[in-house]
Amino acid sequence: MTANPSAAAPEAPTLPPATILGYPRIGRRRELKRAIEAFWKGASSEAQLQDTARELRAATRARLVELGLPAAGGAVPESFSFYDQVLDATIALGAIPHRFAGAVADAAGSDLAVLFALARGDKDHQPLEMTKWFDTNYHYSVPEFDERTPLAANPAALVAQVTEARAQGIESRPVLVGPVTYLLLAKASAEAGEGFRPLDRLDEVVAVYAELLAALAAAGASWVQLDEPALVSDSLPVPRAEVLKLVERAYATLGGTARGTARPAILLTAPYGDSSQALARLGALPVEAVHADLVRGSLPESALADGTLATAYAGTQLIAGVVDGRNIWRTDLRAALATATRLHDAGIATGIGTSNSLQHVPHDVADETQLDARLRSWLAFADQKVEQVAILARGLEDGTAAVEAELAAADAVLADRAAAPGVRDGAVRERAAGVTEADRSRAAEAERREAQRGLEIPQLATTTIGSFPQTTEIRKARAAFTRGEIDQDAYDGFLRAEIERVIRLQEEIGLDVLVHGEAERNDMVQYFAELLDGFAVTEHGWVQSYGTRATRPSILWGDVSRPAPMTVAWSSYAQSLTERPVKGMLTGPVTILAWSFVRDDQPLADTAEQVALALRDEIDDLVEAGISIVQVDEPALRELLPLDADRQADYLDWSVGSFRLATSGAANEVQIHTHLCYSEFGEIIDAVDGLDADVTSIEAARSRMDVVAPLGDHGYSRGIGPGVYDIHSPRVPSVDEQAELIRIAAARIPGEQLWVNPDCGLKTRGYEETVASLTNLVQAARTVRGA
Ligand code: GLN
Ligand code: ZN
Repeated sequence: MTANPSAAAPEAPTLPPATILGYPRIGRRRELKRAIEAFWKGASSEAQLQDTARELRAATRARLVELGLPAAGGAVPESFSFYDQVLDATIALGAIPHRFAGAVADAAGSDLAVLFALARGDKDHQPLEMTKWFDTNYHYSVPEFDERTPLAANPAALVAQVTEARAQGIESRPVLVGPVTYLLLAKASAEAGEGFRPLDRLDEVVAVYAELLAALAAAGASWVQLDEPALVSDSLPVPRAEVLKLVERAYATLGGTARGTARPAILLTAPYGDSSQALARLGALPVEAVHADLVRGSLPESALADGTLATAYAGTQLIAGVVDGRNIWRTDLRAALATATRLHDAGIATGIGTSNSLQHVPHDVADETQLDARLRSWLAFADQKVEQVAILARGLEDGTAAVEAELAAADAVLADRAAAPGVRDGAVRERAAGVTEADRSRAAEAERREAQRGLEIPQLATTTIGSFPQTTEIRKARAAFTRGEIDQDAYDGFLRAEIERVIRLQEEIGLDVLVHGEAERNDMVQYFAELLDGFAVTEHGWVQSYGTRATRPSILWGDVSRPAPMTVAWSSYAQSLTERPVKGMLTGPVTILAWSFVRDDQPLADTAEQVALALRDEIDDLVEAGISIVQVDEPALRELLPLDADRQADYLDWSVGSFRLATSGAANEVQIHTHLCYSEFGEIIDAVDGLDADVTSIEAARSRMDVVAPLGDHGYSRGIGPGVYDIHSPRVPSVDEQAELIRIAAARIPGEQLWVNPDCGLKTRGYEETVASLTNLVQAARTVRGA
């Protein structure tokens, strides 16, 4: 082993060898959600909410120490958030957009009131826009910047956490989104001048971060964590090489001040992807520790071999993110330890960490008492991951032999998983191996169009995206059925009555292509996970999606197959009630993968293929039962796009391929629709075209049809349904408003290609505004048709 070069700089502090980047903050039983929602309803005071939050933070710190993170030295991160970590940074920077000045005045000095006003809006303000955080299903509130956006350090919340922890005997590490990532995720406000970029204000923002760091040092924080996932993404407004330069500029300033008095030691993290190209340069920055995601990313082999990496890290610690913070599988501890040991043996001061914050996994496997015991033994949620980090840290410090028993136990788990029935199903594999290119293609577009004339679909046909409002009655019936208070017959009867109601309603409104309303679905992925083999569902496996919203991803653990039809009974019942076509409604393979925890023992492409084959059979059965239009939703197609440009082509190839495999068994007469939830698909426009769906609906109302022009320019020749009714707001759009949007679209796309539909999400709305808005939508389509 070479000498540890960090010995040459004895004054550089190091983090304890075990740490994590963050922990779930919603509470084991979603206590924070309940407390916040009670406060919103006026059922509790701000002081009560702050008490609950404080208790939750204290319980989290104590739990992390109990699970093996050292209480001293900054190993325990402060990753609490009332809503979202990007929004927290907005508050800490005092970067409140001018348009919220009234809300700030109303808040009367309460940061929490300002935070909720930004997040949720109020009667006078649209909330900040929300969008997905890197390639996750977590959403953040997009900062709005212009030349005049105020900036003033507001360290109160961060300092309070440090102080609370100290009172508890724990020296914790505050966490903040770093300045470069923060500004790269911001957008120019409506008031910004031509050509303004939020990044233009980087130096000013860095100066405010410096003030925040000074306040933390004064409060006694020995460490601070600054997250810069922008370092791993090729999907940001500036190229990745430029991001690295910006990070160098920002941290030269932030790290350039005296540690201890002007700032805590800095841990700079690069979660969610591969930072190997940047790693040596990050080590040369005046920060005390750098984190690399070594699950999604890799080690820079040549810099490691030629000693450049060790030289760059003299006096800087490297936190090896070897425990996966994105999935729920127990770690291959031996492999993880080997990776970290290579760094250690190269003379780099190495610590063990998670690949990213554990906010993306549920709390504790021990809560899942209903899961099959064998499956459960393979799983690691946040608490188990913390224990794994602690084991690996011990192995790194004391040598492999010290943790041999734990490594052997992890080996046994992996071996058990590999050999368990259902993980590999011979029939499923044989069928997947026999798939040919012909299975992924339908007849030429023109031929299909001709064959589909029999559907008698008018120009500017009106339809919806699938769900109808999920009323309290529906939720109550589902809960009663789950608890066993009503039996299957009673529940089915309830759902049939609901379907009939929704069909009659659509006929009255005058829609052309109907839907059954999805009342039977708790969730568009979980519904299928419960009916497919190879999946399991959890009881308490909640993961924050945004604010107080959480989802419970299913666990895709084995080979996927379809023991029986999943949607046919509901769709064919709906079709039996009406002369108009009813769309069959399925969730596509990519979305099923994206919103589940997926097995990590084979490529995602292979798993997608299995799901696609199950859906292909479902489409066959739907058609057999008299359904002539099938919609396969792929709202997550863009979300799973790798951050790394080098990996995107492969992803687009298999994701599009899986959609085509699912849908290409349909005869020419069958019209295949898809729905994509967003309008920003410039990057993947070829892939959208490649799906080869007969009709694609997209979100467009808020952007006033911005998305239509690029599709037109691209020469997109099949059906398009840009949303004309913004479903995110309870406001009822008038006939004129919707007609205007249809005309904008019709100016760019030939009328025979154009469909008229709302954006997606009717299930979150109430009936009153839904009926009024859809009635106007149908009228708007008629007006434009008549013109
Ligand atoms: N069919 C689904 C619905 O209308 C689509 C939802 C989505 O794409 N997010 O609810
Ligand atoms: Zn959608």
